Amino acid sequence: MMLVYNQEELARFVEEAKPYACYGKVADYIPALDKANPNELSVAVYTPDGEVVSAGDVTVKVTLQSISKILALALVLMDHGEDEVFRKVGMEPTDYPFHSIAKLEEKPAKPLNPMINAGALVVTSMIEGGSVPERLNRLLAFVRRLAGNEHISYSDEVARSEFATAFLNRSLCYFLKQHGIIDEDVEQLIDLYTKQCAIEMTCVDLARIGLVFALDGRDPHSGKPLMPLDVARICKTFMVTCGMYNASGEFAIKVGIPAKSGVSGGILAAVPGRCGIGIFGPALDDKGNSLAGVKLLERLSKTYSLSIFGGG
Ligand code: GLN
Repeated sequence: MMLVYNQEELARFVEEAKPYACYGKVADYIPALDKANPNELSVAVYTPDGEVVSAGDVTVKVTLQSISKILALALVLMDHGEDEVFRKVGMEPTDYPFHSIAKLEEKPAKPLNPMINAGALVVTSMIEGGSVPERLNRLLAFVRRLAGNEHISYSDEVARSEFATAFLNRSLCYFLKQHGIIDEDVEQLIDLYTKQCAIEMTCVDLARIGLVFALDGRDPHSGKPLMPLDVARICKTFMVTCGMYNASGEFAIKVGIPAKSGVSGGILAAVPGRCGIGIFGPALDDKGNSLAGVKLLERLSKTYSLSIFGGG
C-alpha cells in the first residue's frame, strides 16, 4: 500500500491519541524535564521525496535523552568497528528497566545492550576525541549531518539538571569501571553523557534522522551515505529489539516499526524505505515511553500498514 499522508488525517490521529496522555506522567527525575506540558503531542512524517507532513506544534524542541543512544552508537560503530564495540557491550534485549544495575552484579558485567543506560554509558565512553568538548562536537556534527540542520545544539539547562542528579548513572559507571569495562573518569563521562542526552531538536529533525535510517544511512536529498549500510542495519535492529526499553516486544507486535524513545517523550522511528517519523509527547508510561506517542504510532502503523513484519 502506498503511503498517503494527509495533514488533516494526521491532525485527527493526534487529537485521538492525545487523551491517552492523562494516564501518563512527565519524567521528573531530571528536574528540568518536569517543565514540559503533559498534554503536548506533535508529529512529523518525512518521506524520501522530501515532503514533510506534520501535526501539533512542531516548533517545540525536545531533548533526545535515550534517543541519543542510537546516534552515539552509530558514531562509535564508525569510530571503532563492530568487533571492538561488541566486546564491551552485548546485543541482547532485557526485561529490566533502562536504568537497572542488577545485571552488572552478575558475571560477566558487560551490559546487555547499548540501549540501556549501562550500555549507553559504555558507548559514550568510546566516542573518540581529546576532550569532552571535542567529543561532544564530533557527535553534534554527526547529528547535524543526519538532520540536515546546522543549528542543532544541546540544552545547557537540561544537561546541568541531569548532571546534578545523575546518581544512578554514576553508580552504573563505578560498577563498569570496577569491572574494567570503562576506564574513563566518571565525572567526565557523566558530563559528556548528560550533554549528549540534552541535544535538542524538533520533531521534524527527528523525522529526518529517522528517514536517514529508513534509507539505509543515505542522505534523503543528496543520496550520499552518512553512515555505512551495516551501521544503519545494526541501529535499526537494536531499535526493534531494545528501542522501547522493556516494552520493545509489545511495541514490535502492536506497531512493528524500528523506533527509539527517550524520557523527554520523544520518539524517533524509521520505516524502512518509506519514511522517518518524529514524535513529541512528554507524558510517559511506567516503562518511560510516550503514552500518546505510542498510541499515535500504533494508529499510523495500522492505517498505512507500516509494520516491518507485514499484515494490515
Ligand atoms: N538521560 C536519561 C538517563 O540517563 C536518559 C534515559 C532515557 O531517556 N530513558 O536517565
